[in-house]
Amino acid sequence: MARFGMAIDTVLCVGCMDCVVACKTENGLPEGLCRDWIVTEATGEFPDTNLEIRSERCNHCDRPPCVHCCPTRASHVEDRGHLVQITKELCIGCKACLASCPYDARYVHPDGYADKCTFCMHRLDQGLPPACTAVCPARCMHFGDLDDPHGDVSRLLAARRHHALQPEAGTGPRIFFLT
Ligand code: SF4
Ligand code: SF4
Repeated sequence: MARFGMAIDTVLCVGCMDCVVACKTENGLPEGLCRDWIVTEATGEFPDTNLEIRSERCNHCDRPPCVHCCPTRASHVEDRGHLVQITKELCIGCKACLASCPYDARYVHPDGYADKCTFCMHRLDQGLPPACTAVCPARCMHFGDLDDPHGDVSRLLAARRHHALQPEAGTGPRIFFLT
């Protein structure tokens, strides 16, 4: 069984936001709401400084608090790809999942249900990568099975320095940023 995740190359990312626009278009998101976003983070002190540009979204965590706190099982882990998904028909809009996510990856859709990145599951069903990954002009985003040692993502993680967001939260995020 695959365990999908991403490796995103922060050295190549130019912050163009094509991934954000592609996601909004592909998923028909309401005005003002996004499932992915760009973060720029400056670290160090001059002259030893670094500017990291990251495309962030739901981390499809291995130990997702958003799933464990959901009273209706609307938030759940799909067998295929171990992806964290939401059945909007079961969602009562209680927002417990929004409060539990350390990454602020969820929002309430105007129709009243919790929503977030799905890794474009409808595209995966067609053998296509997520829209953000497909459109990136810098080719900085890599999507695949973290449990496949010969896959693109696993090879990059083995070869490059990388980090995940807030590992101390204990959620087991599955998006890694190559540095
Ligand atoms: Fe849940 Fe947030 Fe992790 Fe996504 S990033 S699986 S919404 S805890
Ligand atoms: Fe579950 Fe919906 Fe409540 Fe989130 S808002 S915890 S998905 S019922």
